[in-house]
Amino acid sequence: MAFLFDSFANWKKYATENKLTLPQVVMEYERSQRGRTDEEIIKGLEKAWVVMKEAVHTGLTEEMKSRSGMVNNGAKKVYNYPLPVLSKEFQNLISRALAAKEVNSCMGRVVAAPTAGASGIMPGVLFTLQEIHNVDDRKIIDAMLLAAGVALIMEQKASIAGAVGGCQAETGTAAAMGAASIVYCLGGNTDQIFNAVAITVQCMLGLVCDPVAGLVEVPCIVRNASAAAIAFSSAQIGLADVSSVIPVDEVIEAMGEVGASMETRYKETALGGLAATKTGQAIAKKVLIHDIEVLPDEEVK
Ligand code: SF4
Repeated sequence: MAFLFDSFANWKKYATENKLTLPQVVMEYERSQRGRTDEEIIKGLEKAWVVMKEAVHTGLTEEMKSRSGMVNNGAKKVYNYPLPVLSKEFQNLISRALAAKEVNSCMGRVVAAPTAGASGIMPGVLFTLQEIHNVDDRKIIDAMLLAAGVALIMEQKASIAGAVGGCQAETGTAAAMGAASIVYCLGGNTDQIFNAVAITVQCMLGLVCDPVAGLVEVPCIVRNASAAAIAFSSAQIGLADVSSVIPVDEVIEAMGEVGASMETRYKETALGGLAATKTGQAIAKKVLIHDIEVLPDEEVK
């Protein structure tokens, strides 16, 4: 019987007892729960990896303007800016996370990892990781399996949906998936991987979901960039054997507790936070009027 992804401690125990790597446990789960062969699973992930890279490319090369006007080629502006604030690699990372998420906001094709709202984080992280460290595609696929295991546990113990647990659940989970992938690809052990997950979530705990006009654009797109940066900072810390102090399972339980006690207005309802600001409200009104105007006459009646 396959491991059911109810805790990080049990994932580690199951992997150790059965002499499996963490990604192999996810593979076993996929086989037993979904009845897919290893070949099918890998093929699916390879396809997802291609879509992720395409989204980055599209966002950095094509016109990215959303109907609301809130998205206006931000990723390209960042990518082409002549002065990197930290390093060219950091600038690329941020641009790529923005790019893939802009594609989603402009109704393009992305991979929900774990959700569409957080769809820029894994592409930005994996693309940049591969480029800097020359990670081969097979390792990236294993990292995606590992990341899926992280998301499965976070979904069970807390949530991966902004409407249930706030933005910590969406961009926080994606950042944790990214941090785990980085540490894994760079040779980190299980404790280092789980520490990086815990540290990432500690950094994103309490983040509310407050999309302006109810559109997954502002602040979602910039949060994808910052979450990608947090994934790298947490991976750097975790890889160096710095402890998260609070064990990863307890951190995720805290995330669930914070999400459960969050007021409804901070859970994708567009009633609080940035959505409730004067400017946020004005944009919502403009978007609504625009939508009514573009409806055919019969639908308006
Ligand atoms: S603010 Fe809400 S809608 Fe936007 S990415 Fe975060 S959880 Fe998703």
